[in-house]
Amino acid sequence: MKKSKYTPGGFSLAVKRARAGRGLFAQEPIPKGVCVIEYTGRTLDEEEELTSRSRYLFEVTAKKTIDGWDKANTARYINHSCRPNCEIDIHRGRVFVMSKRAIKPGEELGYNYGKTYFDEFIKPIGCRCVKCMPEPKGGAKKSSAKKPSAKKAA
Ligand SMILES: [Zn+2]
Repeated sequence: MKKSKYTPGGFSLAVKRARAGRGLFAQEPIPKGVCVIEYTGRTLDEEEELTSRSRYLFEVTAKKTIDGWDKANTARYINHSCRPNCEIDIHRGRVFVMSKRAIKPGEELGYNYGKTYFDEFIKPIGCRCVKCMPEPKGGAKKSSAKKPSAKKAA
């Protein structure tokens, strides 16, 4: 296969505990503007688009939605971020996660899931990205910060 802008760079990535359940982390430096990983999944038919309860649906185009539930789709572990280091690039009906800037080893990958998803799934529970919930330094006290009452298995 010829290497193109959309050929994932084969970077070493790891699924680790993150502030929002689990996340995908860079294990090595990733330069700016390259393809980090492809978000893959099964294309749903019209019926399934309406009935699927998967949390990993990705609307590729108005007519194509894929379900990235499969464990082989490592990109599904990438969390939403309001200050993302990655961005989505849709190319020929496929979903590619591109680096928006240079990423250091140990950094969690994130991209903006978009307003619709944010309002529906993230807003109600509160966003836990680096921008909305900065790393606490010492005894950080924030009136808006709510402690999760119970641990959820991710
Ligand atoms: Zn946020």
